[in-house]
Amino acid sequence: MLADDYVHPKPGFPAPVTSETICWPEGCCVCATPATRGIEAKAEDGQTGTNVAVAAAGLALGSIAVRTGGGTTYTLRIPHCAEHDDGATLEIKSGNVPPLQIRFRSYAYQRRFLQLNPKPAKAA
Ligand SMILES: [Zn+2]
Repeated sequence: MLADDYVHPKPGFPAPVTSETICWPEGCCVCATPATRGIEAKAEDGQTGTNVAVAAAGLALGSIAVRTGGGTTYTLRIPHCAEHDDGATLEIKSGNVPPLQIRFRSYAYQRRFLQLNPKPAKAA
């Protein structure tokens, strides 16, 4: 059993992306203090990209930017506080729509994310 507030050194707790619009739980995805900025996470052609901080003014959370041409790049902005910038990564996961999966460092945040973004019920 993991403690409710367990935070792993590296992103590891997976959550599927089930919609073009993501509902982010409140607060920083590492420590849950108020989020002041979004960190861009990119996934391209099956690789986990690097994260880039963006200004709070550019905080447009909840939507996924998709660029195509020479491969498809997905970008989304994950809420972080000023202390943290590495709370989650984005990766390609076929079978999801859109084909993405987020990995979080915080076990609590992953569970809150899964509550807000449940997997669609499978057709029987
Ligand atoms: Zn934080």
